[in-house]
Amino acid sequence: MKCPVCLSNNVEVIWQFNNIVPVSNFLYSEKNKALDVTRGNIALTYCHNCGFLYNSSFSKELCDYNSGEYNNDQTESKYFNQYLDDLVDELSKKYKLNNKRIIEIGCGNGKFIKKFMDSVCLGIDPALSKSYFSKDNSFILKKGYASTNDLHNKDFLLCRHTLEHIASPRDFIDEIFVKCKILNLYFEIPRFGYLVENDAYNALTYEHCSWYSTKSIEIMFKDHGYSYNSVNKERFDTEYLSFELSKDRNSVPGQIEIQPKEVLLFCEKYSSYYRTLNQKIYEFCHLGKTVTVWGIAGKGVSLLTNIDNSEQIPYAIDINPSKNGMYVPKCGVQIYTPDALLNSDQLLPDVIILTNRLYKNEIEEVVNNTFYKQVEYIFA
Ligand SMILES: [Zn+2]
Repeated sequence: MKCPVCLSNNVEVIWQFNNIVPVSNFLYSEKNKALDVTRGNIALTYCHNCGFLYNSSFSKELCDYNSGEYNNDQTESKYFNQYLDDLVDELSKKYKLNNKRIIEIGCGNGKFIKKFMDSVCLGIDPALSKSYFSKDNSFILKKGYASTNDLHNKDFLLCRHTLEHIASPRDFIDEIFVKCKILNLYFEIPRFGYLVENDAYNALTYEHCSWYSTKSIEIMFKDHGYSYNSVNKERFDTEYLSFELSKDRNSVPGQIEIQPKEVLLFCEKYSSYYRTLNQKIYEFCHLGKTVTVWGIAGKGVSLLTNIDNSEQIPYAIDINPSKNGMYVPKCGVQIYTPDALLNSDQLLPDVIILTNRLYKNEIEEVVNNTFYKQVEYIFA
């Protein structure tokens, strides 16, 4: 077995996780289909040469973003939206992006690139429902995968939360960035160090098959003439790692941020974490309390599909109206918006499990204004 980044043989499977939902952002309109979802395994593998951490059992077929009802939109959250607005400001100023031609690879539904209103924008993503062209072609969303041609005549490239989904990153980078002349690139990916430092077990998902060290990124882009312009490990309250690459810069050297023993310790603690959480939920239910999970994106789904007693959770809550009425894969828990819940015959929650502390304030505000009752919050 060879490292997909540096091609070293010095790789080691650290842990195997089985029976994992492959795409946590696929929600289902029928409960039976949600329950029947095909599962995959995670063989968490570490490269001792470049620090790249990846799932060597990853199957691309299980993660087909063209199928199912993919919804990873977090922009309903004010906090998240503000984060994106600030990032647009920062990049627009730093790289003077007014009237420049920008490309975003992996643009999701296009909400981020749309914020660069004074630029000429091309967003590409296989998960777009369809392509879109503005009348003057100054804003294009293209359904599909990016090619080298798409990168021609562009001034700036954005690629957020895409590289972690790529199982053969070196092939991907070599294919797209060959002959690339774009001077500056901005990337953002989840940071494995965040999981380790914060015991964020719910953030380990099947679709994130690749976790990069800054050394591994450096190895891949060096051949294409790029080096680090800046590295930021503080993004989104340290959960994200961003790096900016430029042509002809003096490089900040890449590093191996996570050691194999830290990965092993994280994996060892993973199962005891879910055992404790199961016990907590059981105790609340035993007291006659209604327990729910708020926020059904990657982490919420990860939590619901990794606990044994999800049947004790009558429903989940998400403020995104497009998720209302949908079912979570594997466990079949149904999702309600707060308003829909209020108008249903379900009991209002006594206990809300949150998977991200950053959203606590805005969730509390919605709870207070919609349910008018005291709720206990627990963080998981
Ligand atoms: Zn490697």
